[in-house]
Amino acid sequence: MSAPVVQGWCPGAHRPMMSGDGLVVRVRPRLARLSAEQTRGLCELAEQFGNGTIDLTNRANLQLRGVKEDDHQALLAELAGLNLLDAEPGIEVRRNILVSPLYRSGDRTAQLTQELIDRLEELPTLPAKFGFAIDTGPKRLLAADSADIRVEAGTDGLILRADGAKTGCRVTETNAIDRLIALAGWFSERFTPETRRMARVAATQDLPAEWQGSAPGGIGTPPQPGVCDLGALYGAAFGQLPARQLLDLVTNSGATALRVTPWRLILLEGGAAIQAPDFVIDGTDPLMTTDACPGAPFCPQAQVETRDVARILAAQIPGSLHVSGCAKGCARMGPANVTLVGNDGRFDLVKNGRAGDEPSQRGLTPETLMTMDLT
Ligand code: SF4
Repeated sequence: MSAPVVQGWCPGAHRPMMSGDGLVVRVRPRLARLSAEQTRGLCELAEQFGNGTIDLTNRANLQLRGVKEDDHQALLAELAGLNLLDAEPGIEVRRNILVSPLYRSGDRTAQLTQELIDRLEELPTLPAKFGFAIDTGPKRLLAADSADIRVEAGTDGLILRADGAKTGCRVTETNAIDRLIALAGWFSERFTPETRRMARVAATQDLPAEWQGSAPGGIGTPPQPGVCDLGALYGAAFGQLPARQLLDLVTNSGATALRVTPWRLILLEGGAAIQAPDFVIDGTDPLMTTDACPGAPFCPQAQVETRDVARILAAQIPGSLHVSGCAKGCARMGPANVTLVGNDGRFDLVKNGRAGDEPSQRGLTPETLMTMDLT
């Protein structure tokens, strides 16, 4: 098996990534939100230019897959027409912002996020994967999600915190983004090719006292599929949204907008909870905790098909399951109770470990997996 290739940048709409089935074109919704009209338009583009599905990533972005290179410019024009594209590619790269998705229009989460969007060009040069979290609801919801600088609820007001630091500094709604830009400047003068994330830099170079001292506040209960104050939440198995069914769901539920989350959940703003067989509506469904990357034929490094196997095995395995197309383990960096790793058309089995760990068994066929005890 060849060693997996590590990509050094994030795909965007202007700069898509080539995958096994064509280009991956990433759309970064502003404020984690698309209007119903934008959502319907994106679904139609996924059918017209892509493979009919939309990926929901763990940074709450949306991806069209299977786009032909010759169609890329036409797709960009359509995305611009839907106001889903930054005219300036450099701004698109920087707009790497996670937003606590249960905000209300005009509240401080929405205001701070909009200010950051408006001031992106003031940021210094940063690595491609460097990102921000605006997590300023009553309880923090993004504490476990990837971000390098966090504006969040502290025990005593707003704080700004470098990822990896136990505490942050007090900020106000007025100066939070000024301070965020200043902290990004501190990082930009120190990162190296080996330390491209804030937690790595903060661990190896003393973070000045001015950025520390105030503790983060409590962590909230993660949302689950079902009804909430803002509408209805639906789960997306493996973070994959079937475009036609999503279009129907938005229309039939009466939703006015779609909000995206980093947790394989979509929130239909103002939408009713309706029958949706292609989405997860039960928070205890094992598909919500099963990870599987796109696998073959979608990724050029994949050694096996992944998601059909994962769907069948999910209900059979108590605990967490990760089915990975190769040893890179893109879908889950941490350990799972059962990890199956594609290797030359078959699967290697890792128990209580990661995709790159030493397997306890090798060369298992899908048929064998369906009948053997994997626990
Ligand atoms: S883990 Fe999956 S998506 Fe990642 S490189 Fe391997 S096959 Fe591709």
